Amino acid sequence: MSDLKIEKIDVFQVDLPYRGGVYHLSGGREYRSFDATIVRITAQNGLEGWGESTPFGSTYIASHALGVRAGIAEIAPSLIGLDPRRVDRINDTMDGALLGHLHAKTALDVACWDLFGKSVGLPVCELLGGRTDVKMPVISSIYMGDPDDMRRRVAEHRQMGYVAHSVKIGDDPAVDAARIAASLADKRPGEFFIVDANGGMTVETALRMLRLLPAGLDFVLEAPCSTWRECMSLRRRTDVPIIFDELATDDAAIAQLVGDDGAEGIGLKISKNGGLTRGRRHRDISVAAGYTVSVQETTGSDVAFAAIVHLGQTVPAKNLRCVLECRDMVTLKTADGDFEVRNGRVTAPAAPGLGITPRLEALGAPVASYV
Ligand SMILES: [Mg+2]
Repeated sequence: MSDLKIEKIDVFQVDLPYRGGVYHLSGGREYRSFDATIVRITAQNGLEGWGESTPFGSTYIASHALGVRAGIAEIAPSLIGLDPRRVDRINDTMDGALLGHLHAKTALDVACWDLFGKSVGLPVCELLGGRTDVKMPVISSIYMGDPDDMRRRVAEHRQMGYVAHSVKIGDDPAVDAARIAASLADKRPGEFFIVDANGGMTVETALRMLRLLPAGLDFVLEAPCSTWRECMSLRRRTDVPIIFDELATDDAAIAQLVGDDGAEGIGLKISKNGGLTRGRRHRDISVAAGYTVSVQETTGSDVAFAAIVHLGQTVPAKNLRCVLECRDMVTLKTADGDFEVRNGRVTAPAAPGLGITPRLEALGAPVASYV
C-alpha cells in the first residue's frame, strides 16, 4: 500500500438559505437558513478530500452547526498523519477523541472516502460495494402547511419529475388527516408518499388522526412520535407501515429496531448516522432485515448530496426507496459534478472519489485549519 497521510484539515462555513422561504415542522419549529460546515482534508501528496455536515437547525435532532465545528476542533488534531483509506480505523480514532457527536464526525469521514476514491481512481460507490444500475428516484420535502397549499406544492414537484414525496404533518389530528388526503389527492400510479410527523404526535393524536383518514390511502408513516416507547405502542395498534428516522441514529438503535420489529424501514441520513463508514453498516443491517432505506441528509448542499448519491447507488433496488435531493431545499451551490437530476431520477458520478469540484469562491476562506 503506497503512502497516503492526512497532512492538513481545513474547515469552511457557509450559510444555505432555504429556497422556499420558511420551512415549517411539527411543534412550531421554523427554519429559514442552514449553517453548513464543509471540510477539506489534504494528504501529503496533494490529493484533497471533501465532506459536509449541515444540521437541520438546532431542534431537529441533537445536533447543531456550532457543535459540528467544535467537534471537529476536538477530533481533527488526532487525525493528522493517519491513512484516510483505513476508514474504520479513522472512525476508531475519532471515537477515541470524542464520544458521540456523529454529526461532527461525518464531514471528516466523508472527506476520507473522497480521498480514498481519488487515491485509487474509483468512485466512492464502487468502494462502498459497487454501483447498482438503479436510476434513483429523488424525494421532495413538502413542509407542513395549509392542506390545499401542500397539494399545490406536491403538484409543483410532480411537474418537475418527482415520483416520491415526503409530506410533513404532526400538530393536529384533523388538520393532519386533511393534509394527507389533500397531498395524496392527485396521486398517480408509481408515486410514493412518506407522511412524516417528525416526532410531533402522541399515541393518542396519531390514533385519532389515522381514524379520520379515508380508507385506502397508500402511504407510510415516518417518525410518528418522539420516543421509542410511544412509537412501539402505536405500532401495536395500527397496520400502517412505520418508518424510523430521528430515533434511528446509530448502530445500537438500528440493531434494537430490528430486534423489536419496530419498523418497515429507515431514513438513513448520512450526518445523523455518522458518515459513510457507519452509513454503510446501517445500509447492510437494513438490507439484512428486509427494510426499505431512504438515503438522505438532515439537509445540505452539493457536497452532502454527493455522499447521498454514492451511498444510495449501492442499496439494492428492492430496498432503495428514494434519495433526498437536499439541493432542492437550498439556494447556494457549493460544488459541481455529474449528478444532475433528470425526470426525478439521479445516478452517482463516475469520476473518482465523490466526483465533485468544489466552488472555492462560494466557500470563502477557512474558518479553522489543523496541521
Ligand atoms: Mg423524516
